[in-house]
Amino acid sequence: MAKTDNIFLFSVDLEDARENVLNGWQYKERVPAITHQFLTWLEKNNFNCTFFTVGKIAEQYPELIKEIVLKGHEIACHSYEHTPVDKLGKENFKKDLDKNISALLKAGVNDIKGFRAPVFSITEKTPWAHDVLKEMGFSYSSSVLPAKNPLYGWENFGQQHKKLENGLIEIPMTLGNFGPLKIPIAGGVYFRVLPKFFIYNSIKNCLKKNEPVLSYFHPYDADAEQERYMHAGINDSRFYNRLMYYNRKNFFPRLDSLLQLDLKIIPYKLFAERL
Ligand SMILES: [Zn+2]
Repeated sequence: MAKTDNIFLFSVDLEDARENVLNGWQYKERVPAITHQFLTWLEKNNFNCTFFTVGKIAEQYPELIKEIVLKGHEIACHSYEHTPVDKLGKENFKKDLDKNISALLKAGVNDIKGFRAPVFSITEKTPWAHDVLKEMGFSYSSSVLPAKNPLYGWENFGQQHKKLENGLIEIPMTLGNFGPLKIPIAGGVYFRVLPKFFIYNSIKNCLKKNEPVLSYFHPYDADAEQERYMHAGINDSRFYNRLMYYNRKNFFPRLDSLLQLDLKIIPYKLFAERL
């Protein structure tokens, strides 16, 4: 089997949507319950994947982290408190990563290889970020959205995964062409909103090129019971906030239907090790 055959790099960005929301902690705690739903789905299908985990979550739920590790999944970094890389700057990015790593180690994770920037915030405006990751011992990153995007995007990076000059591997988010737009096909909101046939066809196109298909999901993507509030990081857009809640109840059924594409879900670090 070729090394990227039908590979689906399924990931959960383990963060609490209440973080960075004004008075967010007044809303219901949902992360442990929904994370268990993800774990059940993965176990049922005999898959292991990657949980990109915010440091604060590891501090708050060390038992949950231990359970994820025990079930054979990978835990990787996703910043300490979900601050985009450009908002931190180089020195604070290092400090933030240190705190993220310490929190994961303390929760019992002992093999940290990867990083995903909050909101894919590594772009050409933060050219130092990949070097910082390499210096700090990471072997891969999945932090680039290689298109124009209203939040963050690095169009000229290119859509293929690659080993950078410093040896770090960057595995950018998978995109599909939706009219004139290039958008993530299996990411949070997009995965719930886009027509199924578009998602299927885009995945098939990607697999044909022998590229892995990347996803990013969050606990809230599968949470039909969470209260309505304005999510952080979407520029207070009411339209986008409505999409944040759209079709959550069909999240797992949609995932189930993807399995007919005979996808092979593996943790990111396994994929990166083979390169
Ligand atoms: Zn995130």
